[in-house]
Amino acid sequence: METRDFLVQGSAQEPYKVTFRKDGSNLRAYCTCPAGENGMYCKHRFNILEGSDKGIVSPNGADVQVVASWLAGTDVEAAMRAVREIEKEEARVKSLLILAKRALARAMLS
Ligand SMILES: [Zn+2]
Repeated sequence: METRDFLVQGSAQEPYKVTFRKDGSNLRAYCTCPAGENGMYCKHRFNILEGSDKGIVSPNGADVQVVASWLAGTDVEAAMRAVREIEKEEARVKSLLILAKRALARAMLS
């Protein structure tokens, strides 16, 4: 089993500890932020798995690439892909909504 820990500066004064464990095809990720401690989604783990060192204050920022490489073939990868696809859809729907509201505003003035 391989493990990597990072300290990530979030909204609290104390940085959060983000831990990744890779055991075969099983990938686990933990975060000490309020969402992470409650078993909810948090961007601290998501960002690192996407290869971003944003907010990392521990000196092992280069390990982000190691952890990101652990993702391939895991169930976490599939779940992350689903989130990314829905985020793309969300962006598309937001653009459509802006256009529809503009059309509505025009319709109310003509
Ligand atoms: Zn977190």
